[in-house]
This record gives sequence, structure tokens and C-alpha cells, in this order.
Amino acid sequence: MNAILPQVSPASTLPSADELDRALRDASPAEIIAAALNTVGREKLALVSSFGTESATLLKVMADVDPAIPVIFLDTGWLFEETLAYRDTLVATLGLKDVRSVKPAEETLTREDPDRDLWFSDPDACCRIRKVEPLARALKPFDAWLNGRKRFQGNTRADIPVVEDDGARLKFNPFANVSREELEAIFVRAKLPRHPLLASGFRSVGCMPCTSRTAEGEDERAGRWRGRGKTECGIHTMKGS
Ligand code: SF4
Repeated sequence: MNAILPQVSPASTLPSADELDRALRDASPAEIIAAALNTVGREKLALVSSFGTESATLLKVMADVDPAIPVIFLDTGWLFEETLAYRDTLVATLGLKDVRSVKPAEETLTREDPDRDLWFSDPDACCRIRKVEPLARALKPFDAWLNGRKRFQGNTRADIPVVEDDGARLKFNPFANVSREELEAIFVRAKLPRHPLLASGFRSVGCMPCTSRTAEGEDERAGRWRGRGKTECGIHTMKGS
């Protein structure tokens, strides 16, 4: 890390995303998380995790910096039982102290998805009520958040910065520069448990109706919303929530 980063600042005087991005461009994931913590303080920083196939790596790096950073997990009502079990395994293995499982609002589900078929008729609306709106509510108390996107995932992720401004708060991408090989090395070095569905061919795991196995040679996210022309749920494109 090549810059002197500010100590915890009131929200009105936080450094800009560009300033932080320049300072952290070559920093390690642990340094980026530590810088986020120093910038806004633990009460104002959250990590958002899907407890998917690669999530253990970011959670491990975070736990080594501070296992009490709040972790937000979107329990959409459509998750695999294996993902819920994996969440509990990682909480115990990594000693995570503040994992918050966030559910969609019941009244919204009753009004907009009474038959639980919105994922089929309008997946963008389904992601909005089950992921985007609950996350916007959950992030309200925070000034910054951490997430696990990587540039090597391509598509809209190919050129993400290390730090950006989502319109309402700072967004840190500690793994922006990390390679697939480095992630694998974290798994091996820390002896992290794997997501239970990985062994049966699910390389990226989201909600049940929108997740399928990937074939040899396919992009790892090809099994998400297969055939629907959709690659993101919308939580990384929301602005100013
Ligand atoms: S991933 Fe599928 S089931 Fe999950 S919220 Fe989005 S559309 Fe709905």
C-alpha cells in the first residue's frame, strides 16, 4: 500500500472513491479491507456475501483482518439448503461474529410474487424484490461495503476498480485484481471447506430456479440465468440506494 490512508472519518468528510482507488490500486485484499475499516470504522462497514462457491476466500481474508465486520447475506427464499448449511459451516470455521441473514419483505412477496413464479415471468423484478431492495435496506446504516467480484469473471466485471462510489456509499472490491489461481491458493492454504454443490458441477451458485451446472469449458457463471440473457442480479448496478 503506497499511500497514507485517513483514519476513521465522519461520512461528510470521507475521501473520494477515486482517491482511495488510486491509493489502493496495488494493495493486497487484506490491505484493502483494512483500509476500508480505517476509513469508515467497523460500525459503518459491511461485507456482502452470497456464501457461494468462492465466498469462503473473501470471508477468510476479512476474518483475518477483523471477524466482527458485519456480513450481510441475502436469503432470497429460493436458496439451496446446501448454501444455508455452508453459511453455517463458514460462520463456525472462520469464527465470523456478525452474519446478518436478510430476507425479502413479506408484504412485497405477497403483493408481487404470490405464486412464487416471478423468477420465470420476470426475473429482473424477482431479483429486485428478493435481492436489490432487501440489500438496499440492509445497507442503509453503512457508509461502505465490501464484495467479492473479480475482473477475471469478465462481462460487466472486467474493468471494475478497487474502490468505487455506488451513489450512496463507498464500494470496495478487494478481489478486483485477484486471479483464479490466487483464490485457489487461499482455499488450499487455509484448508477452507468447499461449497457442497461444487463437487456435483455447480461452479457458481445462486437461487435454485436460476442456477444450473456448467459444462467443461463453459464460463463459470454460464449456469446462472441460463438462456435468459441476464448475467447480474442487479445488486451491483443499483445506484444511490
Ligand atoms: S436469482 Fe432467480 S429466484 Fe433468485 S431472486 Fe433472481 S430471479 Fe429470483
